[in-house]
Amino acid sequence: MALSGAMKTELTQHLRDLHLPTIRECYMEQADKARKEDLAHERYLLELARRESEVRRANRIARLLRESRLPLEKNLETFDCKRLPARVHQQVEVLLEGAFLDQHENVLAFGNPGSGKTHLLCAIGQELIVRHGRRVYFTPCNLLVQELLIAKRDLKLARVLKRLAGHDAIIIDDIGYVQQNREEMEVLFALLADRYERGSVILTSNLPFSKWESIFKDPMTTAAAIDRLVHHSVILELNLTSYRLEASKKGKESKN
Ligand code: ADP
Ligand code: MG
Repeated sequence: MALSGAMKTELTQHLRDLHLPTIRECYMEQADKARKEDLAHERYLLELARRESEVRRANRIARLLRESRLPLEKNLETFDCKRLPARVHQQVEVLLEGAFLDQHENVLAFGNPGSGKTHLLCAIGQELIVRHGRRVYFTPCNLLVQELLIAKRDLKLARVLKRLAGHDAIIIDDIGYVQQNREEMEVLFALLADRYERGSVILTSNLPFSKWESIFKDPMTTAAAIDRLVHHSVILELNLTSYRLEASKKGKESKN
């Protein structure tokens, strides 16, 4: 027997109170289907639960992608993995499984400008969200530093660090690309110290460690920063020629 009008109204209200919008939208249509196909009550319930969960998961992933500030066009589909050295290729496969986040391991990508560091790490970040529902936050290093400086000035540094701590991974793009003064370096160091063994840092740099004193200014702080980052880490060496340079060369060759 189908529901009376009053019962429908009551059910709709319950589903609203219980925050089950998908079931609210589809329960009648699914009930018709279940009657036609003579499905058991449990099968009907299963179908409703499945739909609610699916929509919820998709909404969560969409929200995580939005909040990550990742450039979504830099993904695995648009990345030519065949350019990667075999070793890096293997490392990437492991990273995509996402277990390194549970160990609070860091990922440090080095290589010349144009070698694909930013693209590769963004693609990994996106997969960690889509495949594993992890919380990832992408930021260019200089923007992050400015954000932290403003927070420090407003006496909100602790609060901002706490918000960042809610992410499984922070992708810091291009550390050392812009020369920083001492105050800027200090907030960056504060962040790295805060995340040490508490959450993954994923970063890219054109500078090898040997040149990191230009980032952290004095030898002690530089050693302390490198030590914390490297302690539990995967290092990706992308010693490749620039993708852009190669693409422009290929373009010219095909024109000739
Ligand atoms: P880096 O961060 O090392 O300077 P980028 O990731 O910014 O390099 O790459 C430079 C440009 O080349 C970007 O437009 C990027 O999308 C592209 N690119 C680099 N490597 C690849 C690749 N393996 N497959 C596809 N595009 C790539
Ligand atoms: Mg880059």
